Order: sequence, then C-alpha cells, then structure tokens
Amino acid sequence: MTASTVAFMGGYGYGYHGFYFDGTYLLVILAVILSSAASMKMKSAFSRYSRVPSRSGLSGAEAAQSLLHAAGIYDMRITHIRGNLTDHYNPKDKTLALSDTVYGSRSLAAVCVAAHECGHAVQHNRGYAPLAWRSAIVPVANIGSSLAIPIFIMGLIFSIPALMKAGIVFFLFAVIFQLITLPVEVNASSRALRMLQGCGIMGDNELRDGRKVLSAAAMTYVAALAGSLLQLLRLVILAGGRDRD
Ligand SMILES: [Zn+2]
Repeated sequence: MTASTVAFMGGYGYGYHGFYFDGTYLLVILAVILSSAASMKMKSAFSRYSRVPSRSGLSGAEAAQSLLHAAGIYDMRITHIRGNLTDHYNPKDKTLALSDTVYGSRSLAAVCVAAHECGHAVQHNRGYAPLAWRSAIVPVANIGSSLAIPIFIMGLIFSIPALMKAGIVFFLFAVIFQLITLPVEVNASSRALRMLQGCGIMGDNELRDGRKVLSAAAMTYVAALAGSLLQLLRLVILAGGRDRD
C-alpha cells in the first residue's frame, strides 16, 4: 500500500472499516444530503398544495376516473391504498393505487398526484417504450442492488479485483434502472398536466402550481440517480485504489 493510498483511504488501512471510513465516504454523505433535500422539498410542496382546494372540486379518485375515460381507457381499476405518498400505478393488474391523502382529497396536490398516476396508466395503454424497459429491468435491478455491495466488500476484504468488478457491474444494473425511471416519471408528469388542461380540470393558475408539485416529485428521482452515481464513483475509486496496491 503506497503512502498516497493510505492518505486516500483516510489512514484506516485494509479491511471492512477501511471501506466505511475512507475519504470516499464523503461521497456517500453528499448523496444522503442530496436525497434528503429533494425529499424535504417534495414533502413541503405536497403539504402546501394539500391545503389548497382544487377548483374543479374533484377528489383525486374522481379526477383520475375522468382523465382515464377522457383518454379512452376503461379497463383500469382505481383503488385506495394506505399510507402517505404511496401512490403508484401497477401495470401487472392495471391498478391505480391512490393513498390516504390523494384518493378522497379534493386538494390541488391530490388531483396532481392522481393525474401523474394516470400518466403512467396512459403510458402503459399506449405502449410507451421506456415504461416497458423499466418493467423488464426490475428483477435484474433488484438482484443488482441487493448483491452489489456485499460482493464488492468481499472483494475488498479478500483483495479479489474480479469480485470488486462484479460488484460494480451489479451496481450498474441498479443505476440503469434509475436512469430509465427518470424519463418515465418526467413523461408521466407532463402527460398529467396536458390531460388536466385538456379536460378543463385545471386552469392556468392551478396548472402553474401543479407543475411545482410534480417538478418537486421529479427532483427526488434526479437526486436518487445522482446519489447512485456518487456511490458508483466511490466503488470505482476504491477498486482502482486497491488495484494499485
Ligand atoms: Zn410516477
């Protein structure tokens, strides 16, 4: 181990602890800060516009129903799911699950979130390719994200470069998933705003505020991707440092 490597590793040397407390740990801290900031901004935008009633007087579920029918979609179910911000569209059973604060709420935020989930339903109905790619990569991404770090740490502890590289490749699958998620989410939100405007559910002023809610939500996906790229950079730096020993 060279002196520069010792400095780089933060002086903690080999082993498990070296992985956790080396200088590259700063990258992890940066990733955590980014994702917490994005999540706080999203929650504050959601809670602010949860107190603003929607002009149409529709609840999230009613707005979703209108938007789906306007898009000519009649084979999807809208259900109520427990929790806060747990809303999602499930392409497997064509179900739009809306949470406690969205399903029955007549707020601007609720209508926007419901419309966003409709955006995913329309993507599915129209065969939007990135959505299909994302669904296809889910199993690989799940395996990748659960195995990447353990494999990498084993490679680091036993100084087996091939294992470290395998860990990085596994991690890449998870990064690719997040990369594909980004256009899927942004597209669902832009569809949502277009549909809300097209159906006359929201006027110009409301759409401007709606865009704020949905942009804040999109930023959490950007932050998650940035965080994963920082983590990837960290793995590459650690593997490179070990290669030079
Ligand atoms: Zn979404």
